[in-house]
Amino acid sequence: MRFSDIPGHGEVKRVLVQSVRRNHVAHAQLFRGAEGSAALALALAYATFLNCEARTPEAEDSCGNCPSCQKIDKLVHPDLNFILPVTSTKAVPKDATSSKFAAEWRSFVLDNPYQGLNDWMQHIGADNKQGSISKEESLQLLRLVSLKAFEAQFKLVVIWLPELMHPAAANAVLKLLEEPPPATVFLLVSYAPEQLLPTIVSRVQPVVVRALAEDELTAWLRDTHHVPEVKARQLAQLAEGNVGTALASLSSAAGATDHNYFDLFVAWMRTCYANKVADMLDKSDEFQKLGRENQKEFLQYGLGLLRKVLLFGLDPQLVPHLPTNEQGFIKGFSTYVTPRNAGPLTQELNEAHYHVERNANPRMVFVDASLRVAELLRQA
Ligand SMILES: [Zn+2]
Repeated sequence: MRFSDIPGHGEVKRVLVQSVRRNHVAHAQLFRGAEGSAALALALAYATFLNCEARTPEAEDSCGNCPSCQKIDKLVHPDLNFILPVTSTKAVPKDATSSKFAAEWRSFVLDNPYQGLNDWMQHIGADNKQGSISKEESLQLLRLVSLKAFEAQFKLVVIWLPELMHPAAANAVLKLLEEPPPATVFLLVSYAPEQLLPTIVSRVQPVVVRALAEDELTAWLRDTHHVPEVKARQLAQLAEGNVGTALASLSSAAGATDHNYFDLFVAWMRTCYANKVADMLDKSDEFQKLGRENQKEFLQYGLGLLRKVLLFGLDPQLVPHLPTNEQGFIKGFSTYVTPRNAGPLTQELNEAHYHVERNANPRMVFVDASLRVAELLRQA
């Protein structure tokens, strides 16, 4: 994984690169972000950069070609260690520790490094069991760090989801952070840092990984994954900056995102505003044909767009970089969505989503929602 493989996060990447260039590598760092963020991807890119054998003093990324880069890329470098939440499974009925799931972890991360705990549990066949980092794991960890690095400059220990450490494991890690072994770098990747022991948090350097801006995610889907612009934008808005979600819907979308939700939403709002019941019925027939998954996705998309409209009305600066095709609609529609009716409008769309999810008749749901929206638009 190279920094250039990861969308956005220019500032975080710059800081990480600088720390290596200036020889200020903190021995313990906490990459904290929401599930689906680039926290793990960035930690891996950093690990690759740290141990790149071809790194020049001016380098801004790992070379990607040297033996170290190649091995880290395939997650087979002997000095790159992972501590992960695991549990007993059919394949590993007892004494589950991270090292027994190395092959699964490799395929999991290489497939998509933006996934979360549930995905991981499913991947190892843990059914509904909870994963954790056990106290046995901490014994292995202590043994591990007592060894010298095999071939790299730094021995790396990536702890994925340290919030799931058993208290005994947490204490062992704390001990290591207090008396760090030489030439060892701990990279903690957390999706719930507020659940970590304060004593651990105080000993790690934070690396805050924010959700991506819609623009950054759109550009990445377009340029790296060759998704057409309109669809990329739609996916990015639906994912709300969550790379994992965007990638998941990209690979699972059995046509699910082949509709132009923007055009549909604009047309729907025009129909509501015109307040002609016959047109509303026609529109509801159209929605009926979308199918349930798309109806839900459409409503989700509508909620996102509605939020932009409201923000724009409050202050256009709050929604910079609006795509050209959205600008006209958002500006015009912002006179009809104000703090007075935004709450009820949002609630209406949320309720429609709720009913569709619970198998209500979609046509009725949309007729109902249309009538309510029409009424609310008049209360701006
Ligand atoms: Zn390299």
